[in-house]
Amino acid sequence: MKNYKNLSASINSIESFGLVDGPGIRTVIFFNGCLLRCKFCHNPEMFQMQENNTTVEQLLAKIKRFKPYFKDSGGVTYSGGEPLLQVDFLTQLSKALKEENIHIALDTAGVGIGKYDEILDLVDLVILDIKHLTSEGYEDLVKHKMNEFLKFVEVLKKHNKDLWIRQVVVPGIHDNAKYMNMLVAYLKTFNNIKKIEFLPYHKMGDEKYEKLGLPNPFKDKKNMDAKKCQELYNKYIKANFDF
Ligand code: SF4
Repeated sequence: MKNYKNLSASINSIESFGLVDGPGIRTVIFFNGCLLRCKFCHNPEMFQMQENNTTVEQLLAKIKRFKPYFKDSGGVTYSGGEPLLQVDFLTQLSKALKEENIHIALDTAGVGIGKYDEILDLVDLVILDIKHLTSEGYEDLVKHKMNEFLKFVEVLKKHNKDLWIRQVVVPGIHDNAKYMNMLVAYLKTFNNIKKIEFLPYHKMGDEKYEKLGLPNPFKDKKNMDAKKCQELYNKYIKANFDF
């Protein structure tokens, strides 16, 4: 380890055997802090940055204990919250993980504080969350301007990284032909997509808003029908992309 071992970050939690946030068995690190306020967020406990609680050295030691489980396809996933808000820590941790030959996935909404080139040089896979594709729809849904997301995507397109796309499908917002056609056209502008996932909006985060005393913008919103979500996926994604 070099002199960056004492750099620290605000981490909410660590999942040791993650199976959905990237390929294989993964250690998923949930970083605190997010500039967005997605109405459908089910991790509102990670909205705020908290005090730093973990150093690169501590986290690396923990990850190395799980390394035998990663085998050929697993690794580490940065999630949150928005990991890009702690980009210096990510960069240093990623350099250390590369020395260990560990696969790195970055699960992001693409709204950080810059230095995107540095971190994208180091990660192996980007899991990009698409919120909405018009600036009005985006701002209404996440309470943030779209500029930073567009800036991130511009940098992302210059890097030839594997890309997974995630779209939460919210009834009344995304489950219509106009949005779906816009999504297909947008996704066709990327040339390295390996997977596209539709996640039907669900109410499982509602209790957290109550517990935290936070207003829940989707309190009255219904679950997205999983069958309809799958039909949309078949009609618009399966029909247009080869995976
Ligand atoms: S980007 Fe993720 S963590 Fe941030 S508010 Fe949206 S859903 Fe929640």
